[in-house]
Amino acid sequence: MAEHMQASENVPLIQVDNVHKSFLMGKEAVQALRGVSLDVMHGEVVCLMGPSGSGKTTLLNIIGGLEEPSRGHVLVGGENVVSLSEDRLSELRLTKMGFVFQNYNLLANFTARENVEVPMALVGVSRRERHRRSERLLESVGLADRAKHYPSELSGGQQQRVAIARALANDPPILIGDEITGELDSNTGFEVMEIVARLNQEQGTTVVYVTHDPRMAKFAGRVIQLRDGLISEDNGLRA
Ligand code: ADP
Ligand code: MG
Repeated sequence: MAEHMQASENVPLIQVDNVHKSFLMGKEAVQALRGVSLDVMHGEVVCLMGPSGSGKTTLLNIIGGLEEPSRGHVLVGGENVVSLSEDRLSELRLTKMGFVFQNYNLLANFTARENVEVPMALVGVSRRERHRRSERLLESVGLADRAKHYPSELSGGQQQRVAIARALANDPPILIGDEITGELDSNTGFEVMEIVARLNQEQGTTVVYVTHDPRMAKFAGRVIQLRDGLISEDNGLRA
């Protein structure tokens, strides 16, 4: 973890400041976000909820630097994500934020272990160290015995656990999840969320995740509701 991220425990790890996002659909602008401000502190577990189309995915993508806001800023560990060069931004994504998606997004021609090792290879981790870490990561998500399996040979829950291990490849301080239990039955969903909760407790990983399911929201210390591109409720706001 970079020094600046540890040095500023009392400064929010993620700062979203008056973020707007509009998309052009033909000639019409769709206002996906209409002025969202949000601070996330180190070690928080934050759940974003809200109706379909309320801007949840857009907000996660902007925090992760996958999309640019039309207006406003996002700081992650004090760095302005919006103004970073492509290189620095991809480094930030590889080392500071692990992303997990609804559909797992694993590489079909890679084994579980190879999938977990991809982000490590991209930042130049040696082969030997990649093996050591991928073994440990797969073990931590309960898949030590599936390392050589391909995604098609794994259940949905197992694939999602591989995706979590991959998101953690470079030991990022932040985990971001978009409807990660959306394709799973509720027991499997709980198992996946328990892994996420354990990560937060044992390693202090900061988590921001989206869910539709109130049962999955219970894993969060703070629940934020989005509605029409604005925060309508935030139970973690201090008065
Ligand atoms: P949620 O994740 O809460 O369902 P999204 O963030 O995906 O909502 O979308 C918010 C709004 O922005 C919706 O009206 C959606 O149609 C629109 N939107 C999202 N992405 C795009 C895009 N790439 N192009 C055009 N409109 C988009
Ligand atoms: Mg979405």
